[in-house]
Amino acid sequence: MPTPFNERQDILSWGRTTRSLQRIAQPAFRDELRPLLEDTLASSRLAIGLRRSYGDSCLNSAGALVDMSRLDRFLSLDVENGVLRAEAGVSLSDILRLAVPKGWFLPTTPGTRFVTLGGAIANDVHGKNHHRTGSFGRHVRAIGLLRSDLGRLTVTPESDPNLFNSTIGGLGLTGVIEWVELRLSKIGGSYLDVEIIPYDDLDAFWALAEESADRFEHTVAWIDSTARGPRLGRGIFSRANWIGDGAYDSHDDESWKRVPIEAPEFVLNRWTVGAFNELYYRVNLAARGASPRHYTKFFYPLDAVKDWNKLYGRRGLMQYQCVVPRETQREAIPALLDVVTRSGRASFLAVLKTFGDLVSPGLLSFPRPGATLALDFPFRGNETLATMAQLDSILMAAGGALYPAKDGRISRELFQRSFPRWEQLAKDPAINSDFWRRVAE
Ligand SMILES: Cc1cc2nc3c(=O)[nH]c(=O)nc-3n(C[C@H](O)[C@H](O)[C@H](O)COP(=O)(O)OP(=O)(O)OC[C@H]3O[C@@H](n4cnc5c(N)ncnc54)[C@H](O)[C@@H]3O)c2cc1C
Repeated sequence: MPTPFNERQDILSWGRTTRSLQRIAQPAFRDELRPLLEDTLASSRLAIGLRRSYGDSCLNSAGALVDMSRLDRFLSLDVENGVLRAEAGVSLSDILRLAVPKGWFLPTTPGTRFVTLGGAIANDVHGKNHHRTGSFGRHVRAIGLLRSDLGRLTVTPESDPNLFNSTIGGLGLTGVIEWVELRLSKIGGSYLDVEIIPYDDLDAFWALAEESADRFEHTVAWIDSTARGPRLGRGIFSRANWIGDGAYDSHDDESWKRVPIEAPEFVLNRWTVGAFNELYYRVNLAARGASPRHYTKFFYPLDAVKDWNKLYGRRGLMQYQCVVPRETQREAIPALLDVVTRSGRASFLAVLKTFGDLVSPGLLSFPRPGATLALDFPFRGNETLATMAQLDSILMAAGGALYPAKDGRISRELFQRSFPRWEQLAKDPAINSDFWRRVAE
């Protein structure tokens, strides 16, 4: 029988740094999944979504991939109580188009809406409201899971806490997520009242974060990663609450601008990135104050340009996202930023946010109380890796953790220290990923 997996060289993750041959099947129906899991021609399988993970957690070059994005059907929506059941390949964008006109929103959302339900669970994603609602997995009521050893299961926190907690943030390794039941969040309209506050240094950031946590549902800061000395960590703090004006305008995905080809490397170099940081800071300095913004503008500014990752050129980009505990955040965050400014490799996108106390259910969930810093770097080979290794040393000394969704190079030691319960994962024996082979086997 011919294998259902096609060999492809163009299957890349969001960072576009790893170019390896992948075998991939693209089923459209749930009935097709079991034979794919049992196919003995591939040594291991991995279900994937829209490949918005930056590194190798959504790649499986020693086995095969099962692309879930065509399993994108809605199964039910309880409009009274905001409970949605959908196939795992449904994107957050699809959910919003259905739910917003009915007065419901995602309980929390990452910075792109082009993420599937399966991917959102497997990385237990977080958003700007973490301090209020915790991570995505806290709002999942049930998961339809297909395992090579146990068959089809409905997993809830009550039915099998170990398998449920392994699957939330479980990097796709506990089975193929076929469908998901999710609790949505009520909104009174599709606009937010957004306040923009330029601030001068990290002390001002900590004060704003603390003062805003009780009064604002969403908080985040963009950091000027070129600012040094007393200005280290200066940036733009945004905080927002929903406006309940009854205007339920959803969005469409048709009007994207597109980056058609990979840009040459000179487009994003230390001077253009430096100039961008300065300009962005000054533009927002002028825009300070409060104004209403549609949810797409507030949550998903990067989605306005499709394939913006191609701006980083053929060698791609790496992201470094870490979390440091509250006890060490005030020493570790300036130390991390100092490495970046001294390296002269300023980050185009640097984001700082404080996580709240709500505990994530996942065994390998990334969010935890403290501060999370995300930095983008154009990939320039060993130079970039050396800068990241310096960041790793500071992170380890601070007792922090690195986010697997953004990673393609973390050491075994840092991973295992970041996620000390990794050996308890209820892994499906037929499933594996390039990431897992690197950090755990
Ligand atoms: C611009 C941008 C902004 C982002 N902002 C944030 C943010 O603010 N917060 C945040 O937490 N993350 C953020 N991310 C990361 C992103 O949310 C995660 O990487 C997410 O998991 C991607 O989902 P995906 O559908 O693309 O899955 P993929 O990247 O394809 O896969 C991710 C993981 O999910 C597993 N998986 C996918 N589908 C299934 C399934 N059906 N069954 C079992 N396993 C499955 C895969 O095996 C893999 O381990 C951002 C990414 C981008 C590109």
